[in-house]
Amino acid sequence: MIEKVLIANRGEIALRIQRACRELGIKTVAVHSEADSEAKYVRLADESVCIGPASSTLSYLNIPAVISAAEVTDATAIHPGYGFLSENADFAERVQNSGFIFIGPRPETIRLMGDKVCAKDAMKASGVPCVPGSDGALPDDEDEIKRIAKETGYPVILKAAGGGGGRGMRVVHTEAALLNAASLTKSEAQSFFGNPMIYMEKFLEHPRHVEIQVLADEHGNAIHLGERDCSMQRRHQKVLEEAPAPGLDSKLRDKIGERCAEACRKIGYRGAGTFEFLYEDGEFFFIEMNTRVQVEHPVTEMITGVDIVQEQLRIASGEKLRYKQKEIHFKGHAIECRLNAEDPYTFVPSPGRITQYHVPGGPGIRVDSHIYHNYFVPPYYDSMIGKLIAYGDTREQAIARMRTALSEMVVDGVKTNIPLHRDLMLDAAFLKGGASIHYLEKMLADKKKP
Ligand code: ADP
Repeated sequence: MIEKVLIANRGEIALRIQRACRELGIKTVAVHSEADSEAKYVRLADESVCIGPASSTLSYLNIPAVISAAEVTDATAIHPGYGFLSENADFAERVQNSGFIFIGPRPETIRLMGDKVCAKDAMKASGVPCVPGSDGALPDDEDEIKRIAKETGYPVILKAAGGGGGRGMRVVHTEAALLNAASLTKSEAQSFFGNPMIYMEKFLEHPRHVEIQVLADEHGNAIHLGERDCSMQRRHQKVLEEAPAPGLDSKLRDKIGERCAEACRKIGYRGAGTFEFLYEDGEFFFIEMNTRVQVEHPVTEMITGVDIVQEQLRIASGEKLRYKQKEIHFKGHAIECRLNAEDPYTFVPSPGRITQYHVPGGPGIRVDSHIYHNYFVPPYYDSMIGKLIAYGDTREQAIARMRTALSEMVVDGVKTNIPLHRDLMLDAAFLKGGASIHYLEKMLADKKKP
């Protein structure tokens, strides 16, 4: 087993990874910016290294600083968490070339999946169904762009090949708007992601976001851990996730899950990963693969009993997968609410000091958070301050527990989205299950109307 892991991240995921390491007897190194020196996980780590000032470009994204920290602390491996450098193939390569284990897939795999056009090609070749649209990147020829859009059928969505984080996407409803939208999306793609390549997909009108969690080892074994429904989104960003997806047929889950596991074997995937799909009228359409641990991994852990982060550590140590597919059983239902320090209705971030903090508890409640009473939420990073997870034998029980937990939870001093989650737990469409990715935005817009 790996002896010492450097955690190249911050916030709740840094604490989550640290806990997994400690349970396995692995030593931990926390790296942090000047703004995070007081953080709980920094104090709890075996060692810590300050890698730069508050700005993430100078700290959490500073590859030489992260690698030097691994060198001075004699770490064996680096866990990138999510966000920051987690899907940066050059970073993974530098980690390996410097003699450390990168806890994630091979750099080539990250590179392949990071280009969404290449990723879709690879998935098509592995028999994974994709959203219909352009065959590869869009050409420059204007008539050709128009022809592809006509063939795909309006509305279409233009997406950056190098895109991520819900940015670099544009929906087009008519041919009149097409060319202008294409050139705007291209220049945005260039400025956000340094890659002007864009592609086109049919814009699905009422899909759900359903994703499949996979685990694969270096020895050619791969399994899936079922699906998560992440349809509650705002600006293409997930707000609440659950597993299993309400109403999804278990035979269909097994089929699409097995396709994903098979794709992992074909591309030589290693580690934990997620195949993201849009699910509409009983059909799955692949949109992209995330080659890292996801924010929403706990809901899968709750219904399978598999500790995904510990499995990442085992796989990175060269171990064979400990589970066969038939040993994975899905039991009960889990829901995760992402807790953000932001205005619950305008979504404007709300950094500051936490003056009161009371955490809920009881059966089936899990809180993954790095915050504490008197913690200062820095303004420099993502506004997520933790995740509240509720498990129940049934979806109804999970919702009832979540409702109780949200009613007990107190986070004062900053604004949070807890009121939004409380509303959602009483919302008829959410309670019914199976709302589309467009639902939450519509609900919020309706609320604003007098
Ligand atoms: P990112 O990497 O930026 O998260 P994705 O390709 O995963 O981009 O898409 C993010 C979200 O955008 C999806 O969860 C979905 O809500 C929406 N989306 C993406 N593609 C389509 C599509 N073809 N039709 C409708 N919505 C889409």
